[in-house]
Amino acid sequence: MTWDFSTDPGFQEQLDWMRELVREELWPLESIWPELPLRGRCGLNGLERAMAPLREQVKARGLWATHLPPELGGQGMGQVRLGLMHEILGTCPIAPLAFGNAAPDSGNSEILALAGTREQKERWLHPLLAGDLRSAFSMTEPDTPGSDPTRLRTRAVRDPAHPGEWVIDGHKWFSSNGSIADFLIVMAVTSPDARPQQRASMFIVPADTPGVEIVRDVPTMEHPWEQFGAYGGHAEIVYENVRVPADALLGAEGEGFVIAQQRLGPGRIHHCMRWLGVARRAFDMMCERATYREAHGSLLADKQTVQNWIADSAAEMQAARLMTLHAAWVMDTEGARAARTDIALIKFYGAKVLHDVVDRALQVHGSLGYSTDLPLEQMYRFARAARIYDGPDEVHRQTVARQLLRGYSPPPDGVPSEHLPTRREQARERFAHLLDAVTAND
Ligand SMILES: Cc1cc2nc3c(=O)[nH]c(=O)nc-3n(C[C@H](O)[C@H](O)[C@H](O)COP(=O)(O)OP(=O)(O)OC[C@H]3O[C@@H](n4cnc5c(N)ncnc54)[C@H](O)[C@@H]3O)c2cc1C
Repeated sequence: MTWDFSTDPGFQEQLDWMRELVREELWPLESIWPELPLRGRCGLNGLERAMAPLREQVKARGLWATHLPPELGGQGMGQVRLGLMHEILGTCPIAPLAFGNAAPDSGNSEILALAGTREQKERWLHPLLAGDLRSAFSMTEPDTPGSDPTRLRTRAVRDPAHPGEWVIDGHKWFSSNGSIADFLIVMAVTSPDARPQQRASMFIVPADTPGVEIVRDVPTMEHPWEQFGAYGGHAEIVYENVRVPADALLGAEGEGFVIAQQRLGPGRIHHCMRWLGVARRAFDMMCERATYREAHGSLLADKQTVQNWIADSAAEMQAARLMTLHAAWVMDTEGARAARTDIALIKFYGAKVLHDVVDRALQVHGSLGYSTDLPLEQMYRFARAARIYDGPDEVHRQTVARQLLRGYSPPPDGVPSEHLPTRREQARERFAHLLDAVTAND
């Protein structure tokens, strides 16, 4: 039996190295990120150029694109180690870019590795892993519920006049990085009359294919101002008469949902792992503030409300961390399918912990916390989105509740199992001889 929370010394050394690189190099770079040019030489933007030497160091340590198993071109470190690594990278919004595992490229590389043909891997996966291409995942539509993708309206139909070719028509939005992507992985309905889970397929669509119109990057809470072509934007895209060849189909026809599920499981837990890092950074800021800010005759650290916030945050962060690493461990030992409920649990719980810790840290800083002089307001906007993307909280709660309820059934005759009068009656019958003996002795 193993029941062990330790990290082996070799990997701990890697984690220490990562923590140092992230804090000493990437946190400073993060603070001037908006000043760097969006576009630049060789298609690289200023941020990528600035972090190019760091990427070389990451590659030399064997820490590049670690999310993929070795047979798919990655390092094969498993989800628990990835969890410990993402916890560090999560402290800095640009760190995943330096380590080749930033969403959505990380998830898209998993899809390509799982479902792509040899040619598709050569053309799209290998350059994506090398950091030479960028991708987007284009599934959510403005006019249909993203939380129920069986309702997608985007269609892909075979063109009888040009056998082998597909024509895609549809309207998507929130395709993250869509405006800077070299290719888009598009989810479209190919068999409208099939069973709901078998209606859709995935297509690899180069972004410059005629008929692909990147309308805009949708301004959001996270990026409230209109801008186009920035890393992290969420693109609205119209696909009109977009013609792609047969080899654009990713996986088999009708397999879109199966592949999406394979991507979303690991993708979700990687988000949860990164949120631990964001929450920790906010927590550290909250504690630091408590040690020096005085109001009404005492330090904030001496106010019971602030003490409660610190203690509650520490407890919730610890719970989220253990739940996340446990889900990762189930994935490593039994596979992603077995971890479905654990992943759903941590997706909504982790998002709440992230939100609450950042909210408390912001409150403890008062107007400074609300200002852009600290990263807390940005973290707060980021935390709010966590409750929506990769499935809203409510859907994950539903998944968990449904799964748990499978272990229960109605009691016989509708009497609750714990109904005390009934239990007493049963106990009296069962232990009648004892009761008789006791009464006789009296
Ligand atoms: C920052 C960010 C990045 C994103 N990136 C991408 C991306 O790269 N590619 C992509 O395709 N999409 C992306 N999305 C879209 C995201 O996946 C969808 O927003 C999400 O799936 C919800 O879909 P929806 O917005 O259509 O909301 P809807 O499906 O309309 O749901 C709205 C609300 O209804 C409620 N609800 C839904 N189902 C239930 C239920 N079963 N029980 C109770 N209440 C329910 C929930 O409160 C939910 O928030 C991104 C979204 C955000 C915010």
